[in-house]
Amino acid sequence: MNTRNVILSCAVLAFTSGGVSPPLAHAAEAKPNIIVIVGDDMGYADVGAHGCKDIPTPNLDALVKAGVRCTNGYVSGPYCSPTRAGLLTGRYQTRFGHEFNPGGGANIGLPLTETTLADRLKAAGYVTGMVGKWHLGAAEKFHPQKRGFDEFFGFLGGAHSYFPAKGKAETILRGTKPANETEYLTDAFGREAVAFVDRNKAKPFFLYLPFNAVHTPMHATEGGLKKFETIKDNTRRTYAAMMWAMDEAIGKLLAKLKDEKLEQNTLIFFVSDNGGPTMQGTTINGSVNAPLRGSKRTTLEGGIRVPFFVKWPARLPANKLYDNPVIQIDILPTALAAAGVEPKADWKLDGVNLLPHWTGEMKTAPHAALYWRFGQQFAIRKGDWKLVRYDTAAEGGKGPSPIRLYSLVDDIGEKSDLAATQPDKVKELQAAWDKWNTGNVAPLWGGKK
Ligand code: CA
Repeated sequence: MNTRNVILSCAVLAFTSGGVSPPLAHAAEAKPNIIVIVGDDMGYADVGAHGCKDIPTPNLDALVKAGVRCTNGYVSGPYCSPTRAGLLTGRYQTRFGHEFNPGGGANIGLPLTETTLADRLKAAGYVTGMVGKWHLGAAEKFHPQKRGFDEFFGFLGGAHSYFPAKGKAETILRGTKPANETEYLTDAFGREAVAFVDRNKAKPFFLYLPFNAVHTPMHATEGGLKKFETIKDNTRRTYAAMMWAMDEAIGKLLAKLKDEKLEQNTLIFFVSDNGGPTMQGTTINGSVNAPLRGSKRTTLEGGIRVPFFVKWPARLPANKLYDNPVIQIDILPTALAAAGVEPKADWKLDGVNLLPHWTGEMKTAPHAALYWRFGQQFAIRKGDWKLVRYDTAAEGGKGPSPIRLYSLVDDIGEKSDLAATQPDKVKELQAAWDKWNTGNVAPLWGGKK
């Protein structure tokens, strides 16, 4: 038993032995540890829980089995940086102009007006650490340790070699200094995640673990490639080895939590930052989004609907499917609720606390609708319906599509456009999206997509 558990047991004893009514059961427990794991450019189909056959993901499957799988889990952006901006703020990133990936430049990054999940949990007494890919601004003022993280190990840009880049300046950092990393990067991130838990196990901690796997470049270890030698397509084979390495790294973290007896009271989220890149012009990696249509960088389901898993044995049911639409901007309010932090109205959160929905205390859908804006593309999901304008590059075209209406409950692959036959539904959804859009601002950088 570690120090924190001893202190807690004493606190609980003090409550019960003094004849004072015990507070709500969960209030007497320790604040949970919180871990947010993000995959990068994963295909919707490429995980055991979604039926993947050629790539085993036993550790992610175990996480799913011990928790809740959201079958309508979304991200608010169809590519890397906007999704991360939404995740860490609990707000649609179009509220503050973070609509597109940041290029270089000293003033381009997650706007300093925004407060991150790390800021908020640090204020609530958490030790906060990040291991992985940042992609929210490379200039000093945007550094993770200036955005609420006590510790940082990883890289600041949007992609990175998985092997030490010979002859180039080291860009894997520990804090702000070169880390001189020699391991395969996914293994290194797993190692650092375990080490973070080891250093901070006596306190409530928040670990943000955004892997760059399985984003390009397509780099796998010899061992990984050998494991998948039956896969003939070279890109898919490399992708499989990269997915497997990420699953192994997650397995090491889960095993560490178990060894330290922290498993029960640790809340873990897993999402991919966007769908698999399958269309020309994206970072094609051999991923598969079936049965969804479309790719990373589109507002079709293939771009925005992702693996979305959560586990917290102390509070949430195991082996549960949750079907109402949820989105990664819900992670922040959910984590804050778990930590006992009450959000304030002026934080202007768009996300909601999902805990009572997952436990079954609340039967209603968490959101009246979900919304996307990505340059010329947009989407709204309301109930079973989705109105969308997407990039026709997804099917070899050029420019944005006409506005389409799909009934996702019986057409998850967005094959049958009902816009012409359901004009009232089109009007209703368009009006709801227009109203939401009045709360957005112009993009701070970038343009048409
Ligand atoms: Ca991505």
